[in-house]
Amino acid sequence: MYCIDCGNELSFKSIDNEGDIPYCADCKKLHFPKVDLAMIAILTNHKNQVCLINQNNDSRYKVLIAGFIKPGETLEECVKREIKEEVGIDIIKCDYLNSHFYNCSSVLMVGFHAVTNQLNLIIDENEVDNASWYDVDDVIGRMREGSIADLLYKQYYQSINK
Ligand SMILES: [Zn+2]
Repeated sequence: MYCIDCGNELSFKSIDNEGDIPYCADCKKLHFPKVDLAMIAILTNHKNQVCLINQNNDSRYKVLIAGFIKPGETLEECVKREIKEEVGIDIIKCDYLNSHFYNCSSVLMVGFHAVTNQLNLIIDENEVDNASWYDVDDVIGRMREGSIADLLYKQYYQSINK
C-alpha cells in the first residue's frame, strides 16, 4: 500500500483499540481503510406492492433500486434521490432495515424500506430496462436467491407478517 498524498510506501502504526493502521512516516498521517457506502431500497406502495426493476439487459432476475452515496449526502437523501432518478417516484417514508458488507469491493450496503403513495413509474432508460409493481406475495423467485435484494425482501416480508 502507498500513501495517496505523497506516494511513499506505507508502514503500520499500532493504535489502541484499532489494531495496526497503515501509516505514512513522511506525512505523519494514518490512512484508515476506506469503505464505500451504498444503499439498496425495497420500495412499496399503499396497495402493498413492491417495485422491482431489471437492469443491464438482465431479464432473468429482477433487482431492487440501489446506488452509491454521493459526497455530502445522507443515506436517506440517497434513497430519495435514487428512487426519484430510477423510477420517478417521490417517497413519503424511509426506514432502515439491515446492512451487508461486501469484502471484495469494501462496500457497505445499507438496506432501507421506502414507501410511496404514487403508482406511476417513469424509468430512467439509461439505468433501468423496466420497472413494475408486484404484489408483496408475488415476489419470491423473481430475484436471485440469496442476493442482498432477495434477503432484504425476505426480511421485509417477515416484518409485515409477524
Ligand atoms: Zn505520505
